[in-house]
Amino acid sequence: MFRKIKQIIDGGNKFLITTHIDPDGDAIGSCFSLYWALDGLQKNPFVYMRDRVPYMYEFLPKPTQLFYNEPPDGTYDGIFILDCGNFFRVGNGHERLKSQGPIINIDHHATSEKFGIINIINQNSSSTGEILYNIYDALMIPISYNIAVNLYTAIFTDTGSFRYPNTNSEAFLICEKMTKFGVSPAHVAQMVYENHPKERFVLLGEVLSSLETYENDTIALAVVTKEMFHKTNTAKEYTEGFVEFIKEIRGVNVAILMKELSDNQYKISMRSKGDTDVALICNHFGGGGHRNAAGCTINGSIIQIKDRLKEALTKP
Ligand code: AMP
Ligand code: MN
Ligand code: MN
Repeated sequence: MFRKIKQIIDGGNKFLITTHIDPDGDAIGSCFSLYWALDGLQKNPFVYMRDRVPYMYEFLPKPTQLFYNEPPDGTYDGIFILDCGNFFRVGNGHERLKSQGPIINIDHHATSEKFGIINIINQNSSSTGEILYNIYDALMIPISYNIAVNLYTAIFTDTGSFRYPNTNSEAFLICEKMTKFGVSPAHVAQMVYENHPKERFVLLGEVLSSLETYENDTIALAVVTKEMFHKTNTAKEYTEGFVEFIKEIRGVNVAILMKELSDNQYKISMRSKGDTDVALICNHFGGGGHRNAAGCTINGSIIQIKDRLKEALTKP
């Protein structure tokens, strides 16, 4: 099944690995695990991410060749794009990548575009980390601690600690295997979820004061403005987990976090419980994602965007 990938890896020496902007645990864990897998095969891998690693993932064993802002120049024997459903979400310089080497797209988004020469897309996989494990297994790539802790974190965070509906038996099986390679579940959980700077909670207080609910408390919405970041001396990465937090309200089916990017432009994060498909709604606004976790960017004032979201969520 992974014959073509095997040919590319066996036949090449220099590889680029990249993912989506605003990388999450799956994006980072997947890129870093593949870096260590290729490094172990005596290949020459490079990782590019448009945005920096958020503080909660800084404990992960990092590539020595890690580039930010712009993809490094040169040509590659393979360019792995991981956990990234839309080509543009690689960020700056993504167009240039097509002339820098064959693109291998490995992803699990429902709205994934087939932009690679090879596309391994499995919507039924919990995470991109899960697909990568299957590739390592098929290619008999030895698992080191550095691979294991990155893979574990990819699966652990993308399943919301095995709580979201994408949690499947493979997620448990692979994570259990990773503990055999030295991964401590308690250590990963503590680093990811219990290692926040105090400022994050000051920001959370501000954000919660904007909380509104609609449709008999089935939709919850909160806003993060640039002013709040400024006032609390925080940045975008401090909001990780906020949308999941307001989803914890009883009866809420859809939770929305609106993050101000610039004047009249907001990044929307949506999460849902059960069958409500937020990927469909975000797709309507030019974004995408999964049934229970999706995002998009919308232009307009806070009030205009709230109205458009309410309309999209309530129309039959
Ligand atoms: P986020 O709310 O940014 O954590 O994203 C939730 C999910 O939706 C992730 O799987 C993202 O990859 C996806 N997603 C977020 N924003 C966009 C977008 N603008 N276009 C396509 N997919 C997105
Ligand atoms: Mn992701
Ligand atoms: Mn993912």
